Amino acid sequence: MNAAAPPGAKHIGVFGGAFDPPHNAHVAMARAALAQFGLDVLYIIPTGQAWHKARGLTAPEHRLAMARLAFEDVARVVVDERELQRPGPTFTIDTLLALQAENPQAQLYLFIGADQFAAFRQWHRWQEILEIAIICIADRTQSTLAEAQFDAYAGDRGRFFTLQLPLMPVSATQIRQLAASGAATSGGIAQLVPEPVARYISAHQLYSSR
Ligand code: ATP
Repeated sequence: MNAAAPPGAKHIGVFGGAFDPPHNAHVAMARAALAQFGLDVLYIIPTGQAWHKARGLTAPEHRLAMARLAFEDVARVVVDERELQRPGPTFTIDTLLALQAENPQAQLYLFIGADQFAAFRQWHRWQEILEIAIICIADRTQSTLAEAQFDAYAGDRGRFFTLQLPLMPVSATQIRQLAASGAATSGGIAQLVPEPVARYISAHQLYSSR
């Protein structure tokens, strides 16, 4: 079940990701997004099998459960299943168009990390994404956000904003690797993911065979 945005919501955030698993940087981004842009609601949208990620993702039910646990203490967040239920490849534009149709009065804000921004012009129908959403970018240690990257967007430069939060070096890849080496049960990922997510990973022995 997907919860709807509050009636009359004016500022709606969209934060998609594999969330395999969700980690502390994701939660920090959500909190920063809600505060900086005065969002009425922030949709957390776990992706289906994303077209640009070659790696097979963990089963949707696990990623959904972990996303619910990770963001359970963040007010005004809705974890939305629509991309997990959609057959075939997941495209952000389709999700944004659906949210726009559901909330015609709202401004949409799309939150991405700097690594995703670096590849933004390869996204399916990226020009249309720019027309309907403001893009808010979180800087990232492995993929630093440079002002020069915005030059490619010339007339659309005003559609991009930087999300204000400290750099967080954590990645889901790092957590999967730690868990694969037995760190999930020994508490080695405890500093990197919300506590209920660490417990879930351990209980379901996720990532142990990778
Ligand atoms: P992986 O290591 O598997 O690629 P990830 O850590 O990038 O995963 P995703 O679920 O793919 O996690 O990320 C969802 C969104 O959050 C993406 O837009 C990504 O760029 C952003 N993001 C993830 N981690 C960070 C971080 N530490 N700092 C800034 N943005 C981040």
